[in-house]
Amino acid sequence: MNKLFGFFAMGVMVLTSCSGAQNAEQPWIVDRFDDIKVIRYEVPGFENLTLEEKELVYYLSEAAKCGRDILFDQNFKYNLAIRRTLETIYTQSDVREGDEFVAFEKYLKKVWFANGIHHHYSNDKFKAEFSEAWFREQLAKYINEENRQIEDDLLCKIIFDEKLYASRLNQKEGVDVITESAGNYYEGVNQEEVEAFYNGMAALDANNPEPVSYGLNSKLVKENGKIYEQVWKIGGMYSPALEKIVYWLEKAATVANPTQKEVIEALIKYYKSGSLKDFDDYSVLWVKDTDCNVDFVNGFIESYGDPLGRKASWESVVNFRDVEACKRTEIMAANAQWFEDNAPINPAYRKKEVKGVSAKVITVAMLGGDCYPATAIGINLPNADWIRKEHGSKSVTIDNITYAYDKAAQGNGFAEEFILREEDRERAKNFGKLGDDLHTDLHECLGHGSGQLAPGTKGDELRTYSSTLEEARADLFALYYLGDEKLVEIGLIPSLDVAWSQYSDYIMNGYMTQLSRIELGKDVEESHMRNRKLIAEWCYEKGKAENVIELVKKDGKTYIVVNDFVKLRKLFGELLCEVQRIKSEGDYEACKALVEGYAVKINPELHKEVIERNKALNIEPYGGFVNPEYELVTDAEGKVVDVKITYPANYIEQHLYYGKEYSFLPSLN
Ligand code: ZN
Repeated sequence: MNKLFGFFAMGVMVLTSCSGAQNAEQPWIVDRFDDIKVIRYEVPGFENLTLEEKELVYYLSEAAKCGRDILFDQNFKYNLAIRRTLETIYTQSDVREGDEFVAFEKYLKKVWFANGIHHHYSNDKFKAEFSEAWFREQLAKYINEENRQIEDDLLCKIIFDEKLYASRLNQKEGVDVITESAGNYYEGVNQEEVEAFYNGMAALDANNPEPVSYGLNSKLVKENGKIYEQVWKIGGMYSPALEKIVYWLEKAATVANPTQKEVIEALIKYYKSGSLKDFDDYSVLWVKDTDCNVDFVNGFIESYGDPLGRKASWESVVNFRDVEACKRTEIMAANAQWFEDNAPINPAYRKKEVKGVSAKVITVAMLGGDCYPATAIGINLPNADWIRKEHGSKSVTIDNITYAYDKAAQGNGFAEEFILREEDRERAKNFGKLGDDLHTDLHECLGHGSGQLAPGTKGDELRTYSSTLEEARADLFALYYLGDEKLVEIGLIPSLDVAWSQYSDYIMNGYMTQLSRIELGKDVEESHMRNRKLIAEWCYEKGKAENVIELVKKDGKTYIVVNDFVKLRKLFGELLCEVQRIKSEGDYEACKALVEGYAVKINPELHKEVIERNKALNIEPYGGFVNPEYELVTDAEGKVVDVKITYPANYIEQHLYYGKEYSFLPSLN
């Protein structure tokens, strides 16, 4: 493989300001607080785009920033009121030191990072480390009739009463996941009512081969005994923000090529009508446009934030093709049918004809909504099963983001602490990044798109377990094929060492190291984490008799090592077969047993140990980003002649700026 990032050595680093958190050894990290590090990313190749492409990036980026408030409100109905109150105090206060202020600043940084008062990953409400008395003093000093968003007493109760709105997304077995979750997708309804409402809708559509994703773009409320949807559209809920988004999309359409213009106009039509049929029409056009250089995601897309997996959070990503790195995914896409035909699953559940696998490696130019500050490193869309089956899906790996992660992690001591054997450390050093990238490519490009449902299975049978199972399916597909000689044969990897490095890393992360992200005493809730734990623990248990994976104790520390990579690959295949069967047949009971049995409960001793060892390294378990900024350069007549990119490196300033310039919704919606 070519080294893809050679040109980075010459990359300009424009560090405009310094927040003090930056340090000379780690210029990629711009801020760190609590369990978070904020990283900067660069946009290599932007200068080489045509003027029209640069303009397109600019307009789509503006649109990407305009939906930020929507996500805050979706995450919790009082988030915007809280953010605005905190920002008022923060910007007006003349005090800039003292324990209370420092704790307050940290809290605000966390709220910005999570787009609300609940942790972006664990979904738990943040604990304020400043006192209520101090906070009330600030309220009295800086909050008056004019800038008060909600009553002081209610505000204090929300922030300081730990039991109130404790979780944004509570999926614990046996609870009413709707009434126990603080997310703002439902109001006044319980789980039973929600399920009845949408089952009724789906039943009307039972024989439609192109069913829309009911509930995707609305809040479900019960008022005066009546249950109805408040649709997110122009003229409906979130209209002021959506109007701005559409304004910039209209600008984007003026510089887009004819195909992409059609795509953008279809999206505008959907934002205006709120019709999910229009959304599907748009998604079909979008997925078919595989030639575009600049591309984007903008809309209500992923449903991880809804305990029932129906309502989608608003997000946006603007990107363009990384031509050199795309050679990798083009090879994968060209062999898609071979992968499908050889998948270790029941032949009945293989796709007979793999359609429209489009995979590319991209450079991100702007992150917005649910992709900012924390973002995925791979995306596969659209989500509608029938569109994927009929028209395929687009899948991307985001290279400049993984590159920045990699840079920010250099020299942090993690490998020395957690990887026992020198040979594994060496393999990780040489092949780790490529293994990670290929895992993401395979997961997104082929994994999610593979397989098919049995006749009669609708796809919503797995309910709260569906995200975990789907992620497990994509991961297992990637892991299984990563260790296949075919990859060497088609030139994707130089040797299977790439796979073995990924296997060791995956098992260690799933079984142990990812636990550092979870508070002691808590269960695993997030679906990607659940999926990794499920795979690692299942394989550990099933391979125990043959010592495939081994837990080693040394000097009081626990290590996990893979002793037999080939046998581990076989186990990945066996689990993939079962996971695909569960999805294809909609086998809820088997799915529940698998997830509850392997993915949720944590061994408390191991958990404690991992947290302590990680803490000693001073590594924040979560990362997110600051965006670059773009500026139109015009000539004397006002004609756009260029677009300039700069890299601000101050987390606080970026969020205050967004809060001032890109905030369009009222505090309560
Ligand atoms: Zn995935």
